[in-house]
Amino acid sequence: MKVLVSGGAGYIGSHVVKALGEKGYDVLVVDNLSTGHSELVLYGELIKEDLANKEGISRIIRSFKPDAVMHFAAHIRVEESVMDPLKYYRNNTVNSLNLIESCVEGDIKEFIFSSTAAVYGIPEKLPVTEDSPLKPINPYGRSKMMVEYILEDTAGPLSKYNDFRYVSLRYFNVAGADEKSRIGQKYPEATHLITRALKAAKGEIENFQIFGTDYNTPDGTCIRDYIHVDDLADAHLKALDYLKKGGKSDVFNCGYGHGYSVREVVDTVKKVTGVDFHVEETGRRPGDPPVLIADNSKIKKTLSWTPRHDDLEYIIETAWKWEKKL
Ligand code: UDP
Repeated sequence: MKVLVSGGAGYIGSHVVKALGEKGYDVLVVDNLSTGHSELVLYGELIKEDLANKEGISRIIRSFKPDAVMHFAAHIRVEESVMDPLKYYRNNTVNSLNLIESCVEGDIKEFIFSSTAAVYGIPEKLPVTEDSPLKPINPYGRSKMMVEYILEDTAGPLSKYNDFRYVSLRYFNVAGADEKSRIGQKYPEATHLITRALKAAKGEIENFQIFGTDYNTPDGTCIRDYIHVDDLADAHLKALDYLKKGGKSDVFNCGYGHGYSVREVVDTVKKVTGVDFHVEETGRRPGDPPVLIADNSKIKKTLSWTPRHDDLEYIIETAWKWEKKL
């Protein structure tokens, strides 16, 4: 079976390409290599192309004729999205529209989309279920939510494309790296907590900060649901199986259903690395919800997804091994 993977040279995409390749899928990665790296693509072929070039994408789809498309390519920095919203609407929303349109025109009927827990904004009830209202609080989350709506309408009952089916996966906090350290997160400017803490342990950054210690949580810092990237990759394979068996279009949370505070993560990074790096406690980062935890019962039940790495130490150990290799 042939799968086209947009953004397959990026952090999450490359782990999914690895999982697909290991299972014998024929993979074609399409990536503009703006933040991706060709050496992260362990299986299949890579074509350097930008989703902004709809003609180019349509040509690739016509010639490769994938059985399904998985769409990862996107910008992912929340703060940047606030400063430069149009960059996000262009790349995350408009370019996704290009890809979806190229798919329906090329008769591709199965589509898996990288969405985000950021579509929930500040949830009213926790853990968050998929039917919670979508109220993103930044352009990043909105740019992704719009793609969810585009997919929903494209697959709608009265749509002329109603044989098109999709799965949107709403990622919580993705972290960790390949067990054998072949691939991992490789961004010049890391903003995510675990990566920044590991860079502090490595001595690469000196100003590691905890953003906010006055939240209404047990230790005052924000709580997040950290999911290992290989478990997330497996969720994509399960979603693909589901669509192949005729499953209806749907949306699933991807998280473990429990969380850790920023302080707990920092303490675990210190324990795993053995480095007692300097931590500065500072004010809140704008737009951070206090607690974000997935209700994952739907994905477990419907896709038979079973997490294998629900262990913060394992997540941090694999990320640390990769970080040292970089
Ligand atoms: N955070 C922090 N220091 C950092 C990076 C992040 O205190 O250097 C906090 C951030 O404010 C949030 C949590 O860690 O409460 C997770 O942030 P991250 O950027 O990793 O993911 P997000 O939940 O924003 O997607």
